[in-house]
Amino acid sequence: MPTFTYMTRCDGCGECVDICPSDIMHIDPVYRRSYNVEPNFCWECYSCVKACPQHAIDVRGFADFAPLGHSVRVLREEKMGTISWKIRYRDGRVKEFTFPIRTTPWGSIKPPSDYAAPDANALGSQMLAHEPTALGVEMLPTLPVLDKKEV
Ligand code: SF4
Ligand code: SF4
Repeated sequence: MPTFTYMTRCDGCGECVDICPSDIMHIDPVYRRSYNVEPNFCWECYSCVKACPQHAIDVRGFADFAPLGHSVRVLREEKMGTISWKIRYRDGRVKEFTFPIRTTPWGSIKPPSDYAAPDANALGSQMLAHEPTALGVEMLPTLPVLDKKEV
């Protein structure tokens, strides 16, 4: 279910543009409002929905899931740290559920630019950038090596 922007709520702050991992949220240069430039390629990660301070981004239901008279509403409640969904099906049934927006305080995660550039030799490692320190562990867990007699 890709996202769309309510033009009357959006103030063009650009938070959704900055957070979209696939560069799909853009600001229209004439109207200064955001829009989803490529709904077919939207990852549906809803980072933009969660990040928008104006509740200006909503989610469009797929035609096979909720045709005719359906609605999908998303509400970001920052004080409660939640994001609430309200799905209304065309037969009138309503499904509501709430998820935490995040489990760590806003701004508490170090951005990649705050980490030192990795050593070129690290390219040959199977570790991802800044592992294992960025995960807060000394080493990644591994499977125990079994004795051949045990196999
Ligand atoms: S749902 Fe994710 S991929 Fe889609 S526009 Fe929003 S941030 Fe980008
Ligand atoms: S984050 Fe919300 S208010 Fe800001 S540009 Fe995106 S849709 Fe508009």
